[in-house]
Amino acid sequence: MRSIHVALALLLSASPCLAQDKVVLVIHGGAGGLAKKSLTHEIDKRYRDALALALMAGHKAIKSGTSLDGVEAAIKTMEDSAVFNAGKGAVFNRDGRQELNSSIMDGKTRKAGAVAGINRIKNPISAARTIMEKSEHVFMIGEGAERYCRDQGLEMVSPLYFWTDSAWKELLQAEASAKRKAGALLKDPPHYGTVGAAACDSDGNLAAGTSTGGITYVGPGRVGDSPIIGAGTYAENAACAVSCTGKGELFIRQTVAVDIAMRVKYRGDALKKATDDVLRELPKIPGGAGGIIALDRNGNVAMAYSTNCLFRGTITQSGKIWVAIHEE
Ligand code: ASP
Repeated sequence: MRSIHVALALLLSASPCLAQDKVVLVIHGGAGGLAKKSLTHEIDKRYRDALALALMAGHKAIKSGTSLDGVEAAIKTMEDSAVFNAGKGAVFNRDGRQELNSSIMDGKTRKAGAVAGINRIKNPISAARTIMEKSEHVFMIGEGAERYCRDQGLEMVSPLYFWTDSAWKELLQAEASAKRKAGALLKDPPHYGTVGAAACDSDGNLAAGTSTGGITYVGPGRVGDSPIIGAGTYAENAACAVSCTGKGELFIRQTVAVDIAMRVKYRGDALKKATDDVLRELPKIPGGAGGIIALDRNGNVAMAYSTNCLFRGTITQSGKIWVAIHEE
């Protein structure tokens, strides 16, 4: 009897995510911008369906593969949905162009890949993963990154593929508002619609990823936190997996994702406490700085935001889905 207990304890500690029906994937689709009172049934359903679809795709990929597969599949689904500010549906900069950024990190090896300033690779998250796995680099940008990923066989598209009516309208509104009051939108952006995921597979390996079009009406060439390892994305088995959304400049300066992980790793902070504390310590800006999701090997989840909402969801090992937008 005792040997069964010992064997079970060893199994559980070797594969933390196997114990009970733990969360294996947590995702976000950005923070803020949608007041509860303006949430119609139709909008609510559109976001919840898109989040659930991403969770199911990620879950399937984790079951047959790894946490990296789960992160990539979930983010790819959100990039393809045209609902979020990533891939199709990305926002426009001041020049009326879309510059896509993404990153991914493997918690087991701490290998990472990132890409910025691209608009010809259909799925930026796959570009980040390709750079991580196939190149000798971590971070590639612009035309060179696109050429490299095309040569590696990634699906390429015309920049027009990413265009959506709603993102274009958001740019026009931002332009009009900036004309009325210079810089107003940069202080209080309407919506951080970046997407991200953190996953744990049956071997207990963590992974995290983030993908974005940046922020509407920012200057051409501006890069936020999403493709910056340690700022918008971080994963390390000994700590946790983190993905952020929000005003990128603040998340870069405070190296938010790695700060959370190091509090967990070196100080033994609970995941939720570390996430809440780091978010609270960000400078206060109108509308709130943003949101964070995090997951550890034991299936502990943290989802924190200082905006009026965070599009978010989780899925357990057995496939139980939970999604939310506002406080519930
Ligand atoms: N963090 C992203 C950026 O600053 C924006 C977002 O989260 O939507 O580029």
